[in-house]
Amino acid sequence: LRPSVSVPDPGAPPGGGAVPDSPLVEAKSLRKVFSLPRTAGGARTLTAVDDVSLDIRRGETLALVGESGSGKSTVARLLLRLDKPTSGSVEFDGVDLASAKGEKLRQLRRRFQVVFQSPYASLDPRFTVEDIIAEPLRAFAEGSTLDRKRRVEALLDEVHLPADYAGRRPAELSGGQRQRVAIARALALKPELVVLDEAVSALDVSVQAQILTLLAELQVQEALSYLFISHDLAVVQQISDRVAVMQAGKLVEMGGAIDVLENPAEDYTRQLVSAIP
Ligand code: ADP
Ligand code: MG
Repeated sequence: LRPSVSVPDPGAPPGGGAVPDSPLVEAKSLRKVFSLPRTAGGARTLTAVDDVSLDIRRGETLALVGESGSGKSTVARLLLRLDKPTSGSVEFDGVDLASAKGEKLRQLRRRFQVVFQSPYASLDPRFTVEDIIAEPLRAFAEGSTLDRKRRVEALLDEVHLPADYAGRRPAELSGGQRQRVAIARALALKPELVVLDEAVSALDVSVQAQILTLLAELQVQEALSYLFISHDLAVVQQISDRVAVMQAGKLVEMGGAIDVLENPAEDYTRQLVSAIP
């Protein structure tokens, strides 16, 4: 499925955690219930995520798939601690995210990053590429001004953008180039997990392929784990090691990518797979 990329030997020591083979992220029985504005006779709550348990292993790409509204982004927000679960827990490298506060939470946060679908919306049009990529470094007071400039140069090189793009603004970039900038910014603090929430969905197929190749390359170079969220199984089959399938807030199927995509156990997954061209 991802011929140019080798998955780390599961017997090898993990990237930094103390417990061998422990997952990088472990979510247990996550539920998220939203309160909705009161409507006459209508339901007042919506269970967006319902009893979802999953783990993300070190160095792997776990794809989270399902149709629009199935709860994928809400799961991502809970894993990234951008939102709190109604019940259930998330551990990152053995640390419970709900109990982490202050400086401990800040230091955990730098270890997981996210790239969203629309790079134009997430890249502030007023800032230069250099400012955008260096922003997390400034936020964490990482290095001197010169160090940060050098780090931006290295990151531009890693995502295969010319060094002179540092002075450009988002409006002067193509969609694919903007997504490369968003990826460079996500990598600035050397995270262990990158959540890619529909990160290639807005791009043309040929640009998608280039970004997927880049992501595969960076995964090996930077020893990254990915949570790759997409409604598009044709894209997912190019990049994932395992696939988790969501339907109406529930995780209905999870397993090795080849098993799930070639031999789905659930009717729902079969329908999603049948849409692959
Ligand atoms: P997906 O990413 O799979 O398209 P989402 O996680 O964005 O799905 O949404 C799952 C469900 O939760 C949808 O019905 C959506 O309308 C609802 N939802 C998401 N965020 C909120 C929110 N902040 N308030 C109320 N409902 C929400
Ligand atoms: Mg979404």
